[in-house]
Amino acid sequence: MGLTDNAENYLLRNSKAISDFYSKAYTETLDILNNFSKTKASRKRAAAVLLQIEGIVKELDDETKKFIEDKIPATYKDFGLATKKDIRKLGAKVDDSFALIHTRAVQAIADDSYLRFARSMQGVINSAEDFVSLKIQKELRETLASGLIKGEARDKISKEVQEQIEKQGVTAFIDKGGKRWQLNTYSRMLSRTVLQQAGNQGNENVLIENGFDVVKVSTHGTICPLCIPYEGKYLSLTGQTKGVTTIEEARRNGLFHPNCMHTFSATNPNDYGQAKRQPSPEPLTREQRKELNQILKDNEIQGDLRRNLRTEDKRKNFFKAQKEVKKKFN
Ligand SMILES: [Zn+2]
Repeated sequence: MGLTDNAENYLLRNSKAISDFYSKAYTETLDILNNFSKTKASRKRAAAVLLQIEGIVKELDDETKKFIEDKIPATYKDFGLATKKDIRKLGAKVDDSFALIHTRAVQAIADDSYLRFARSMQGVINSAEDFVSLKIQKELRETLASGLIKGEARDKISKEVQEQIEKQGVTAFIDKGGKRWQLNTYSRMLSRTVLQQAGNQGNENVLIENGFDVVKVSTHGTICPLCIPYEGKYLSLTGQTKGVTTIEEARRNGLFHPNCMHTFSATNPNDYGQAKRQPSPEPLTREQRKELNQILKDNEIQGDLRRNLRTEDKRKNFFKAQKEVKKKFN
C-alpha cells in the first residue's frame, strides 16, 4: 500500500546524507569552541573563531539548500506516485503526471522547511557567540580583579567554560518545553520530519485531487503516546465524510509530530461505511499518558526504538510493552 509499508526506511535513507553533514559540522564546531576555551582569549582570536564557525554555517546552508531543492520535491512525488498506484488498484483512473498546483504545494513545503533549518543555523551562531563572550567576560573580570591572569586562574576559567560547553553543547533550538536540542540530534529529527511532511502532503493532495476522502493511518506498532490512539484508524482528509475524525484534528493532537514515522493510505470508498462506524479516536488523557509511561518504564524501554531492539531480552520486553500499549490505548 503506497509507501506506507516502507516509509520509515525511505525517510531514513533520504535524510542520511544531510544528517551526517550536520553531525560533522556539530563536531567541528565543538572542537573549535573547546580549543578556544583552552587558550588566552583576545578580541582577535574571538573574531577569528566566530568567522570560522560562520564558515561552517555557510557550508551547512549550501548543503541544506541542495537537500531541500532535491529531496523535498522527490519525496512529495514518490509518495504521490505510490498513492496513484494504490488508486489504480482500487479501480480508479489516474495518470502519473502532476498538475501545476502540486509544484506550488512543493514550493510552500520547501520554503517552510528551509526556514526551520535556517533557525537552527542561527542557533549555532548564537551558541558560539555565547561561549566566546562568556570566556572573554570571565578573563576580563579576572584581569580587573588581579591586574593580570595567572596560570592557575586561567586554568580555572578554561575549565569553567569547557564545562559550560559540555553542558550546553551546540544548541540548535530550544523548544517550548525549554529543552535544548543539540545541532546533531535536531538536524536528524528535522531532516526526517520535513521529508515525512513532504511525502504525506504529496499523498494527501493526490488523494483529494482524485476524490478520495477517507484514509487509514499506517501501523508499525508505535508506543508513542501521541500516535497510539490513531494508529490503524480511519481519518477524513477534508471533513466531507461526516462522523470520521479529520486528519487536521489528529494532527492537532500530535499525530505526525516531529520524528513521527506514520503515514496513511487510500481507503476503498466501499469501506467508508466501516470508517463511519469506527469510534472516534481520542488523544490520551494525562492519566493515560502516565499509565503508558509506566508500562514503558516497567519494561525498561527508553529512547530510540532501535536501541530497544538490540538484544534478545530488550526485544522481548519491547514486544511485551508494545502489545500492552496497543491493547490499552489503541
Ligand atoms: Zn507517529
